[in-house]
Amino acid sequence: MGVVKAVGEAPEAEHTKVLGNNIMTTSLDLVVNWSRSRSLWPLTFGLACCAIEMMSTGAARFDLDRMGVLFRASPRQSDVVIIAGTVTYKMLPVIQVLYEQMPEPKYVVAMGACASSGGIFDTYSVVQGIDQFLPVDVYIPGCPPRPEGLLYGLIKLQEKIMRERNTFGAAIGAGNVIPG
Ligand code: SF4
Repeated sequence: MGVVKAVGEAPEAEHTKVLGNNIMTTSLDLVVNWSRSRSLWPLTFGLACCAIEMMSTGAARFDLDRMGVLFRASPRQSDVVIIAGTVTYKMLPVIQVLYEQMPEPKYVVAMGACASSGGIFDTYSVVQGIDQFLPVDVYIPGCPPRPEGLLYGLIKLQEKIMRERNTFGAAIGAGNVIPG
C-alpha cells in the first residue's frame, strides 16, 4: 500500500517505500572506528598527582565506565595509556616497556603539564614532554587537569579514532591505518 503524502511534498524514493526505516547502510571503517572509540581500555598506570585526578575520573562522580572506558590491569588488554604525572628518566624505561606490550592499535594521552612538557620541573631528571619518546595523540593542559579535562581529552581521542581510514583493511592485513 502506498504512503499518504501531503500536497506539495516531494515524491518518496522507491527503496524508501519498500524498506521504510528498516535498513541502514554504512561502511566497515565506520563500524570498526565506532566500536574501537567506544571501548577504550586505558592501562591502570599513574605517575604523580595527575593520577589522583585520573582515579577520580574513573570513580562514581564522573564515571568513565559510562563512556565504555574501563581501566585494565595489564598492558596486554589495554589500547590507551594515559601518561598521568611527572615522567622521570628513571621511570621512562618502564613506561616504554609497558607501551611496547600493548597491542595495536594503541593510543597515548599526555595528561597535564608534566607529561606534556615537563611542567614546572625543568631539571636534568625529568623528561620535558613524553612526546619525545611516545607518539602522543591528545594533550590535556592543566596542573592538574580536572576530571572534566580528562573526559574532554578522551572525547577528542574518540573523535580522532572516528576519522581514521582503512581500519578494517588494516585489521585484515591490507595496508595500514590512515590516521585521523
Ligand atoms: S602537572 Fe601538576 S598535578 Fe600533574 S603531575 Fe605535574 S605537578 Fe602534579
